[in-house]
Amino acid sequence: MKYISTSGFSTPVSFKEAVIKGLAPDNGLYYPENVPRLPDSFFKKMKEMTLEEIGFQVMHSYTSEDLSDDELQQIISETLNFPIPLVPISPDTFALELFHGPTLAFKDVGARFLARCLASFTSSEQPLTVLVATSGDTGSAVGQGFLQVPGIEVKILYPKGKVSKLQEQQLTTLGHNIEAFEVDGNFDDCQRLVKTAFQDADLNEAMTLTSANSINVARWLPQSIYYFWALAQLQGSERVLVSVPSGNYGNLAGGLLAKAMGLKIAVFIAASNANDVIPAYLDSGIFSPRASVSTISNAMDVGNPSNFPRMLEIYQAIYENISKDIIGVSCSDAETKSILRKLYKETGYLADPHGAVGYFGLEQTRNTFRGYARIFLETAHPAKFHDIMQEITGENIPIPERLMEALDKTKNCTPLSSNFSDFKKSLLGK
Ligand SMILES: *Cc1c(COP(=O)(O)O)cnc(C)c1O
Repeated sequence: MKYISTSGFSTPVSFKEAVIKGLAPDNGLYYPENVPRLPDSFFKKMKEMTLEEIGFQVMHSYTSEDLSDDELQQIISETLNFPIPLVPISPDTFALELFHGPTLAFKDVGARFLARCLASFTSSEQPLTVLVATSGDTGSAVGQGFLQVPGIEVKILYPKGKVSKLQEQQLTTLGHNIEAFEVDGNFDDCQRLVKTAFQDADLNEAMTLTSANSINVARWLPQSIYYFWALAQLQGSERVLVSVPSGNYGNLAGGLLAKAMGLKIAVFIAASNANDVIPAYLDSGIFSPRASVSTISNAMDVGNPSNFPRMLEIYQAIYENISKDIIGVSCSDAETKSILRKLYKETGYLADPHGAVGYFGLEQTRNTFRGYARIFLETAHPAKFHDIMQEITGENIPIPERLMEALDKTKNCTPLSSNFSDFKKSLLGK
């Protein structure tokens, strides 16, 4: 399988090259040259298969030129080493819980897969340095994903005083090959330092730099596994609707890819918070990115969704087909709080603010899709949003042990000004 750029001006590359490069030279996103359809025999057996077996089959044709079956098997089993249960909420409604990984959010799957792919593509003579700027959650998923992976050093930059205490502890207590930089500035400063580093001749001479951001194909592709696994766990339903709480739309694009590979999902809901660029596009056919606004589902505060070109690619940019398969729903903070509270009161199910946006998508379309099995993706553990959850439900949400452990450890980070020259000196060990 070769990978083409969604911008169309770069030569096709191998999986390995696409993973190491991250972004195509023409600034497009890498995308598989053709989407493989899985055979009927796979779909017949799917309900008897394990998560790992499904993961292997889904990823195989994307990686087979650069990873042997044994290597892929190893990567899959280290990536998918936590459960992803489909939890029934009512007879026709289910939550696919993607938050049982080490950092309690769905980004764990993509980050772990990417880390292990990069590790198998590097040699000990040529270690890789991964740079990542974070506003909170991405850094810890990436840090955890790469923790103790041989041949890779990770540098996480986060804005001082602008991440939650819990997030800071998750970022700064990993140790080993993960170094956290506390930048005296905001998230944009962190991102600027990283971008400048990629363009700096001295640094590129001294080390092999790479990025672990969500544009990377190895973070994007494995997300389609969730959707196969959801349907494998669903008993006897012909028509399925899946609602995906979305920000950069990597997760939803993974679902669309699964459908293109033959998975029978009738309709997707693109569920956004107030940052409703994609729902607006689905209504009007016009894509107009704009500055993001802050919401209580903050991991989805994205004003220019970076995976939009992949969504277009899947449908050859034919708007009629995109808008047939995907329905956009946007949910305000007030609606998020009220649906979260209602779901909890009526069923006892505690969703986090992101999952609640997904559930809102199901409720808004209930009358249109009677008789469907309805699944929403629950993308983070509610305890990650402890304070707002307490405000909404009036209850104290216990913090899981995995997070408590991070709270007890000693913070270890390198303070940094927002001047590039300081960051450069630090990377060069001067
Ligand atoms: C990143 C994230 C999302 C949004 O996923 P995209 O693939 O960017 O659309 C939703 N919920 C949580 C908790 C996230 O961390």
